[in-house]
Amino acid sequence: MAKIISGKDVAEKILITNIKPKVDDLKLKGVIPTLVVILVGDVQASASYVRQKEKFAAKAGIKSEVRKFSETAPEQEVLDEIIKINKDSDIHGIIVQLPLPDHISVTKILNSIDPSKDVDGFTPTNVGKLFLGEETLVSCTPKGIMLLLESVNTDLKGKNVTVIGRSNIVGKPVSILCQQKHATVTMCHSRTKDLTAKLSDADVIIVAVGVPKFIHGDQIPMGSIVIDVGIHNVDGKLCGDVDFESAQNKVSAITPVPGGVGPMTVCALIENTVIAAERLSNKN
Ligand code: NAP
Repeated sequence: MAKIISGKDVAEKILITNIKPKVDDLKLKGVIPTLVVILVGDVQASASYVRQKEKFAAKAGIKSEVRKFSETAPEQEVLDEIIKINKDSDIHGIIVQLPLPDHISVTKILNSIDPSKDVDGFTPTNVGKLFLGEETLVSCTPKGIMLLLESVNTDLKGKNVTVIGRSNIVGKPVSILCQQKHATVTMCHSRTKDLTAKLSDADVIIVAVGVPKFIHGDQIPMGSIVIDVGIHNVDGKLCGDVDFESAQNKVSAITPVPGGVGPMTVCALIENTVIAAERLSNKN
């Protein structure tokens, strides 16, 4: 019987047992960890992510604030706000909710964030530190995936991990984190030949492709662990990049969609905000 790895439960436990006590310590020192979310335009999906962030922030006892801009706000207006937040010592974390409207350069916006407040871990400085194995703020979805694997006591040393998808926000960083844990990592993408063969000796499969039910049970080796990053609304029902029904008969453990990687991404964001607050308050 496959274990269903509930990201919802793991996130809740980490928020209450690991993060909240750190927040309480900071508050005793007069520091209230504070996260600012920048939201440009009126994207429905973004609004629901933002609500989840606010809910988790409240659970951990950190302050979170949304600064909204209209769909047509000039790029410079958003940049000016980020520069102002960079200088505000009462704010420890900034994230800019993606996607942004077409007239705003994502690269320009992300590069303007002070790396010590970059709790999404997207700035070149933090990505570079991750690559070099230095202390940094690790981007949230890959960090959440590693926490999920830890929650089922997965020792990655010597294990075969196959990552499907090589995006900057999921596939690439999670492959680095798995290598840091001494896994042998196979990276697959849209030009990979015979994907099923690449999965045949995998102990862990991480799927971040963005195609509903892309991976099926018949491609998955018996007893492997599957982490499904994808999230899609198909005919009003949420599903992932993995066909859960056929996969669950093959795996030893699998994440559900919803309630798997999603809550862990938000949990990692809250943890990063607390880490940033600790580091910044030690500097002052
Ligand atoms: P992305 O930037 O679109 O990257 C998709 C990757 O999948 C690319 O590397 C692409 O290869 C690869 N790919 C596409 N079609 C393929 C195929 N037929 N065979 C093999 N590889 C293929 O996506 P992403 O941002 O990583 O997100 C992936 C999914 O995760 C999406 O559903 C997204 O909504 C979800 N997501 C969820 C969370 C969460 O917190 N739950 C966070 C982030 C993302 P190429 O590089 O060759 O194009």
